[in-house]
Amino acid sequence: RVLITPKSFPRTMTEPAELLKAAGLEPIYNTSGRTMTEDEIIEVSRQGVVGIIVGVDPISAHVLEDLPDLKAVSKYGMGTDNIDSQRAKELAIDVRVAAGTNNVSVAELAIGLLFAIARKIPLTVAEVKKGSWQRVMGNEVTGKTLGLIGAGQIGREVALRARGLCMNVIVYDPYLQDDSFFKEHHIAISSSLEGVLGVSDFVSLHVPATAATHHLINETTLSYCKPSCYLINTSRGELVDEEALYNALLNKKLAGAAQDVFSIEPPPSNHKLLELDSFILTSHTGAYTQEAVERMAVKATENLLSMLKE
Ligand code: NAD
Repeated sequence: RVLITPKSFPRTMTEPAELLKAAGLEPIYNTSGRTMTEDEIIEVSRQGVVGIIVGVDPISAHVLEDLPDLKAVSKYGMGTDNIDSQRAKELAIDVRVAAGTNNVSVAELAIGLLFAIARKIPLTVAEVKKGSWQRVMGNEVTGKTLGLIGAGQIGREVALRARGLCMNVIVYDPYLQDDSFFKEHHIAISSSLEGVLGVSDFVSLHVPATAATHHLINETTLSYCKPSCYLINTSRGELVDEEALYNALLNKKLAGAAQDVFSIEPPPSNHKLLELDSFILTSHTGAYTQEAVERMAVKATENLLSMLKE
């Protein structure tokens, strides 16, 4: 048996279902309509679940230790911050991500948010729907500098699209092995976070959530940004100190921010950031396109079967 937790997993799609059937595995789907809790995962997986295809649900040490038959955890997407990979390793449970399946979708959302915040599209739509024909002054992106924090799969897709929009692109990623992609596309590389934040008109975050990146954007790093700068976060809520972001936006030390992710999802309805016109958000929808969910479903299933065979 295989537990499949993501709500968006395309259950009627033929390929993943046939792959599981051919391997003699029975899928059990999360029917709660939301992210599962640790106890719910344990409850449904205790008997005979050998693999889990997981979204953002918690695969903690507690879950891993309570499932004796579990051999593999296959991430439906990228980012293993919800999986205790260290404990999995100790228990000889394999973990693999579905790399390369949703990078285009997340990059396209980042570009969408860039225009949305620069041209104040959500605010203008809300005004017009209220019966007002008031215009809200925006900014062009052509000729502006986009700073990318993290230049992995998604960061590079964003960079290519930004170059196509005639933007200058500068990246900060201390783990880059090879600079040929950046040279080829006329993308500058900075050796410091401060160096990128200080020159950027837009900053977009594309790093994983780890102990090292927790609150990467905080009061100090926000102070390096130009007051005219816009911040875009399609990575993880944990990267941004939301209190510091609120203060920077309120005090006009930052022009605007757009987030697809929050430290707590969904954010409480009384969250202070939601009061600000200069702040817009989407509901962790970066990978939620028909194309990406189909790619993620096939890849996560293939990864699971390959781990179970090893
Ligand atoms: P990736 O592993 O290909 O790239 C991450 C890059 O960040 C790597 O190049 C790495 O060297 C760099 N990095 C790590 N720590 C850094 C630091 N401290 N400073 C600067 N760079 C650093 O991952 P990806 O596919 O590009 O995904 C990036 C993140 O996007 C994921 O970890 C995930 O959190 C997030 N994501 C969000 C959605 C969504 O729905 N919004 C969907 C997919 C992924």
